[in-house]
Amino acid sequence: MAGDIIIRNAHVVTVNPAFDIIPNGTVHIHDDRIAAVGPAADAESAGFPEGAEILDAAGGMVMPGLVNAHTHLPMTLFRGLADDLPLHIWLNEHIFPAEARHIRPETAAAAALLGCAEMLLSGTTTCCDGYFHEAQVAEALLQSGMRGVPAQGVIDFPAPGVPDPTRNIAAAREFIESFKERSPLITPSIFCHSPYTCSADTLVQAKALARELGVLFQIHVAETRSEREQSLAAHGQPPIQYLSRLGLLDAQTLLVHAVWTDAAEMEIIAASGAGVAHAAESNMQLASGVAPVPAMLKKGIAVGLGTDGCAGNNNLDLLQEMDTVAKLHKVFNNDPTIMSAREVIRAATIEGARAIGLDHAIGSLEPGKQADLIIIDTHQPHLMPLYHPESQIVYAARGADVHTVLVAGRKRVANRRLVDLDPAAVMARVVEMGRVVFYK
Ligand SMILES: [Zn+2]
Repeated sequence: MAGDIIIRNAHVVTVNPAFDIIPNGTVHIHDDRIAAVGPAADAESAGFPEGAEILDAAGGMVMPGLVNAHTHLPMTLFRGLADDLPLHIWLNEHIFPAEARHIRPETAAAAALLGCAEMLLSGTTTCCDGYFHEAQVAEALLQSGMRGVPAQGVIDFPAPGVPDPTRNIAAAREFIESFKERSPLITPSIFCHSPYTCSADTLVQAKALARELGVLFQIHVAETRSEREQSLAAHGQPPIQYLSRLGLLDAQTLLVHAVWTDAAEMEIIAASGAGVAHAAESNMQLASGVAPVPAMLKKGIAVGLGTDGCAGNNNLDLLQEMDTVAKLHKVFNNDPTIMSAREVIRAATIEGARAIGLDHAIGSLEPGKQADLIIIDTHQPHLMPLYHPESQIVYAARGADVHTVLVAGRKRVANRRLVDLDPAAVMARVVEMGRVVFYK
């Protein structure tokens, strides 16, 4: 059914190539797409379509829905379970055992749905995910009405749902094939855990599968200094050079973290067209280091922002992440000009979309694109006065300020409430499961 929605009385942050901000703007949505974006005067003189639903943004800010370029949604089950630990202890003594013991289809499904609820309520309309039992994650995304790039995880040891690691690539193929034509909102993918938990043979096979099926290949890489040192010892090359030698880098590859990346490796990434998911808060919490994002941006690399899993962040609030990203690079480089609010907004929208291969469809408010957008309520003490919307979004707003969320032209959050999910039921299920996790 054809439907028209008109959003009026808004500061429209388009994130188009010119980064136009329209102070009294109107967005016209027809079905699942943006039909027009412009000043109110233009829209009113053209007239609104008969029967259109009018959404008054009340002077709030309208922007593209946020793109979370790196998540592990079922890990909401482990939020706050083990913090303040070195990465190898956190991973090997807490996270891997908890996953082995507690991640089953029903826990993955419930925890992923909690993640979807959290993301939608804080303005994220697309996430790029990788985990085990990923079919449950994809179903949660569909149930919530979010857009997503869910990826079946591949690792060379027994994993939840894939007890025999020799079947890891076959399991990924089954996942991709079962979701490829399922919904325009779901773009399935494959996720190799890392170069140190997957053999060269596994990595090459996984990338070959991604190429055969035309999907994104994702991998954690160059997260820590010790990973870089181990790679030099084992392969004679740092991790990203090693992946390049294996032939894994191209425009359909997403490198997650890329913290310990030197200038030569940045050249390799830029030449390959691969994207990067920057998970600043996760890298800070685990003291992994600071990815050289300003240098990557100078080289034209597509860098998106990711929260990473909830067990090492510990939330999925991308507005908070944007604030952190801007300030982290300023203080780390002793340069307040090195990363602007506009660059951070681009990373959280259009560049994140480019990094995961969806920039043709989402990431900016331009006619013909999918109507994935959010309204931020500015009638709050911490959001006024409003001089520069881009500054307000990055440095003052938080996820709870998101008032309305549309995905593909459909309201998923209205007046700060989820339209398609019952949050009380979603939360109760995970709290119940969490009791078992805590008491073993
Ligand atoms: Zn991760």
